[in-house]
Amino acid sequence: MLKKIVIIYGTRPEAIKLAPVVRELKKHPDLFNTVVISTGQHTNLLSQTQESLNLVPDVSFDLGDATNNLVECFTHIMNCISKYCNDNPDLVIVQGDTTTAAATALACHYNGIKVAHIEAGLRSGNKKAPFPEETNRILVDHVSDLLFPPTEISKQNLFNEGINKNVFVAGNTIVDAFKGVNLGKLPIKLFPRPYILVTVHRRENFGLPLQNICSAIKKLADDGIDIILPVHSNPNVKQTIVNRLSDHPKIHLLPAVTYLEFLKLESMCKFLLSDSGGVQEEAILHLKPILILRDVTERPEVVSSGLGTLVGTDTEKIYTEAKRLMTLNTFTIKDLHPFGTGNSSQIIVSVIKQFLN
Ligand code: UDP
Repeated sequence: MLKKIVIIYGTRPEAIKLAPVVRELKKHPDLFNTVVISTGQHTNLLSQTQESLNLVPDVSFDLGDATNNLVECFTHIMNCISKYCNDNPDLVIVQGDTTTAAATALACHYNGIKVAHIEAGLRSGNKKAPFPEETNRILVDHVSDLLFPPTEISKQNLFNEGINKNVFVAGNTIVDAFKGVNLGKLPIKLFPRPYILVTVHRRENFGLPLQNICSAIKKLADDGIDIILPVHSNPNVKQTIVNRLSDHPKIHLLPAVTYLEFLKLESMCKFLLSDSGGVQEEAILHLKPILILRDVTERPEVVSSGLGTLVGTDTEKIYTEAKRLMTLNTFTIKDLHPFGTGNSSQIIVSVIKQFLN
């Protein structure tokens, strides 16, 4: 009998990492009725990403102003999911650690609907960093019925918390997404090289940490280094960055760019400076070093690959490490494929097939 599978996303990284899973599920219309829902947790970032990925949701929620407040966002999504899933789908799939993933997983759990969690088991060990993502992912893992940690380390994290049933290491679907694109002919504005590509958006970096990051970027630009910075649309980020970094000839502030444009910018940069989770994973795919603007990471694989360095948000530390990387031309890479080789969605879908039978 046809199984109804609902895939839910609400933010840019979820759309990127779930698009390959949607494609893989839709290859089996004889087995699955696949329904794609966007909660709209990110608004403009999500629509440009969906376009880039040719991902069209079957249903879109309108969160309105609820996106600005964690509690309102969470409760609004829980209510929408609860209503939408009242026909008891066979499985609901969530990804990662967003409010969308946590609210959906809990709503399904309360309603007796089975949940699969893609990118399970990531842990920084600090509930405040990343905030609220660390708490979200713990919650999702503990209510999920089927779990797909990307690596052995994340599987072990689950085992350490007593979660050892229906756990399958699958790699990370960000590799599948990356393998599926062709950047060759993408028309894109070219920037002087070498440049540093920067992204910053983590909630725990709002305020003073972000100001310190901006000071480091300004010092690097004052030394004549070109900086490309697609600015996240969150007003807390945008305001500080525009106030501190506009009007510098070496700092190129862009509005958030499409997924494909961003991959192209990554492919041509000298190295990355970022507090993003997905960008850490992509650094490995491009074989680019990354300075991680955080004190802890739930992706220790990036650090042990030899490409990632945790630099936190101290101005001098960021500046010194960045200057060191500017002069480095060869890097030792210890692990080329910590997140798999691009067949994660196939693994996930074949496990789902067995699970639902
Ligand atoms: N990204 C993008 N446009 C940008 C910056 C990033 O499409 O201007 C993509 C990037 O390729 C990566 C993802 O966004 O796959 C990372 O998402 P984000 O940093 O928002 O969230 P996180 O991964 O930290 O949860």
